[in-house]
Amino acid sequence: MKSALLLLGSLAAAVGCAAILHDEPADLAENRPAHHMPDGTFVNTDGKAISKSFTDLLRWRWSRTEPAPQHFDVIHPDPDVIAKPAITQITWLGHSAFLLQVKGKNILTDPHFSKRASPLSFLGPERIVEPPMTIEELPHIDAVVISHNHYDHLDEASLTELYSRQQDNPPLFLVPLGLKEELSGYGIDQVVELDWWEFHEYEGMTLTALPVKHWSQRTFFDRNKSLWAGWLIDIEDFRFFHTGDSGYSDDFRKIGEDYPDIDLATIPIGAYDPRWFMKDAHMSPEEAVQTFIDLKAEKAIGMHWGTFILTDEEMDEPPVRLAEALREKGIEASNFPVMGHGEIYQVTHLD
Ligand code: ZN
Ligand code: ZN
Repeated sequence: MKSALLLLGSLAAAVGCAAILHDEPADLAENRPAHHMPDGTFVNTDGKAISKSFTDLLRWRWSRTEPAPQHFDVIHPDPDVIAKPAITQITWLGHSAFLLQVKGKNILTDPHFSKRASPLSFLGPERIVEPPMTIEELPHIDAVVISHNHYDHLDEASLTELYSRQQDNPPLFLVPLGLKEELSGYGIDQVVELDWWEFHEYEGMTLTALPVKHWSQRTFFDRNKSLWAGWLIDIEDFRFFHTGDSGYSDDFRKIGEDYPDIDLATIPIGAYDPRWFMKDAHMSPEEAVQTFIDLKAEKAIGMHWGTFILTDEEMDEPPVRLAEALREKGIEASNFPVMGHGEIYQVTHLD
């Protein structure tokens, strides 16, 4: 029974279902930030929570035809290039997981190396494409940023292995507000949790949590009790933005204004169909292109596709629609590519 409840909770968590609508105004008299609700939950910068009901979730699940798994080539990254990057580089580890290597720093985003994006080892969305490298094969990691607590972004087994592998000198784990306790529960104690617009300086890096339009949930009982965020990472003159999961929103135009000169952004392009259910929490490839324009980023890489089957679009559709949307906006495809699993993208213009 507990397993069934956990799985339903995680199913809801994976796709953007919400049972409660919070739309009361923030109580400014108590000086509470507008996205902090009196009951301890969080809302988006528009003052609302993603508001799909559990009935909507079931309506979608019962009516859907799940897309077929597809084959994707997996490249095993060259260990020498990973060990000694000549210039700034980023390696796609599948879904929203990247290894970013800048000026001698190694940073992971949303690391996920497990078989399923689920609380259960035997049920829940299964990985279709193997991770291109193991945690053992990673270089020493300085920092790990986690965008939110959905199972395809916050994977307990991956985090505990990353932590225990570097027990003498563990990475710093950066999480949005409300998730430090979750990681403490895994035995991970080197954790910094940040509210939106807060930043933390660590070993020459400045890591800033910024608002995106999403929501959080890991069980039936913790909806929106922890925050979700995009991560802006500054290392010397290199500025990187990891969007995490987000619907299209005005947040990106503001980020582009307040944090100019983003050199590289990772932007989600998958998990968008059906639109009636997904639109609030997951942008389409066309909206991802608009997000790229709003951020005024120099380059972007498409993520959150081609790894798990979470939603109804075909696994290989996001890059096709991305390419078409870029063409329509007159943007060079090379400014917003997708990567192969395990591919290393070298940011040549900076060095
Ligand atoms: Zn999510
Ligand atoms: Zn996701």
